[in-house]
Amino acid sequence: MQNNDEFLAALKAEWFKRFTEILADKTVPLSNLKCLELCEARCCPRVGMRPLSPDKIASPVVVLLPFEMEYIMEKTGVSKDVFRIWPIDLTPEIRLEIGTLDLGKPCPFLQANHLCGIHEHNPLDCRTFPLLPSLDPAGSLEWSLGENCPSLAFLSPAFSEHMKRTWRELLPMIPRSWWDLYEFADHWTGYPKPAESNHAD
Ligand code: SF4
Ligand code: SF4
Repeated sequence: MQNNDEFLAALKAEWFKRFTEILADKTVPLSNLKCLELCEARCCPRVGMRPLSPDKIASPVVVLLPFEMEYIMEKTGVSKDVFRIWPIDLTPEIRLEIGTLDLGKPCPFLQANHLCGIHEHNPLDCRTFPLLPSLDPAGSLEWSLGENCPSLAFLSPAFSEHMKRTWRELLPMIPRSWWDLYEFADHWTGYPKPAESNHAD
């Protein structure tokens, strides 16, 4: 029987393979989002971004998939310290560390020109936005839109369908405890108080 270390090593290898396949996929349709024209990377948590009310900000929390933090660390050389770590239980005996980025741990990859510095390796949560996945009680994927994204009217249906298919294919690998964290992160308010951060919007 496999011990936990062997099981985790095999699981990590499977996730790394999936991430590589997703990132190498050249068939992803253009999203048609007008990020640079209409927005200032509102969905990327960054230094100086205040915890604005939900009608002013898109989604300031990025939640990485299992082993996605490790994948990004390996590809970019960034340290684990830049991520906020949330543990989730995979089984009663096995705990996974999930990396997140939020206003308390701003994304280290956002460039001054509002472009992503690791676009070729960036998290699936970033790639998927403004589409927001969730899990219904029966275990099926549901979708909503980050309503505060100013590009919603331009979002390509072909891109949406492609991303939804990508998540459907990953669904059997994602533990329910990850979905609980993803939902929790939507309501995360542990950012620095406005008075403690510099307003840059
Ligand atoms: S996806 Fe939407 S919120 Fe994010 S940078 Fe583009 S326009 Fe802005
Ligand atoms: S990884 Fe890139 S797309 Fe994601 S939050 Fe950081 S800068 Fe934005």
